[in-house]
Amino acid sequence: MQAVQTTHPDIERVLISEEELRACVAKMGADITRDYANEEARIVVVSVLRGAAIFMSDLVREIHLPLEMDYMAVSSYGSGVTSSGTIKLQKDITTDIQGKHVIIAEDIIDSGLTLQYTIDHLAYFKPASIQVASLLRKVRDDQPDIDAKYVGFEIPDAFVVGYGLDYAERYRNLPYLGVLKPAVYENK
Ligand code: 5GP
Repeated sequence: MQAVQTTHPDIERVLISEEELRACVAKMGADITRDYANEEARIVVVSVLRGAAIFMSDLVREIHLPLEMDYMAVSSYGSGVTSSGTIKLQKDITTDIQGKHVIIAEDIIDSGLTLQYTIDHLAYFKPASIQVASLLRKVRDDQPDIDAKYVGFEIPDAFVVGYGLDYAERYRNLPYLGVLKPAVYENK
C-alpha cells in the first residue's frame, strides 16, 4: 500500500516541513554535541511535557554524548489558544541534577512564562548549568528577555500545531508544523 501524505484539512498552511524540522534538529544536536564535548556523563536533558516530547526524542538522538533524560509537566494553556498566565507544576523531575549540566528541551517560547518558571524551578536543585534548547520562538514585542542558547526557528505570532504541539490534545502527531485555521478554535 502506498502512503499518500496530504495536509490536514484543519491546517491553514504548513509553516515548517518535516524535512526542515529534521535538518534543524540535526544541526541543533550537532551544536550541543560540540559545545558539551567535555561534559560527558553529566548532561541531563529535561523535556517539558507534553508539547516538547517529540522534539526531545528526536534531539537526543542527534546528541552523540552520554546523557540522562527526564520530564517535567507544567500547565498554562488549559485547552485554549492563549496562556492563562498561571503556571502549575503537574509533574516534577526525579533525576538528581545537582552539579550536572541541564538542557531544557522546550517546544515553543511564546510569552516566556513557562520557560522562566521551568528555569527557576530547576535552578533550585543546584545544577552546574542550565541552557535552553527551544524548537520555536515566537516573535513578540512583549516577550521577556530569556536567554535561549539554542533556538530552531523564529516564527510569527500565530497558533501552530504539529510535531508535538496540540490544540485541545489534537494534531500532536502531524509530522510538520502548521498554522491552525482560526475557524477550528473560534467555533468552539
Ligand atoms: P508561554 O508560557 O511561553 O506563553 O507558552 C509556552 C507553552 O504554551 C508551550 O510550551 C506550548 O505548550 C504552549 N504554546 C505556546 N504557543 C503555542 C502555539 O502556537 N501552539 C501550541 N500548540 N502551543 C503553544
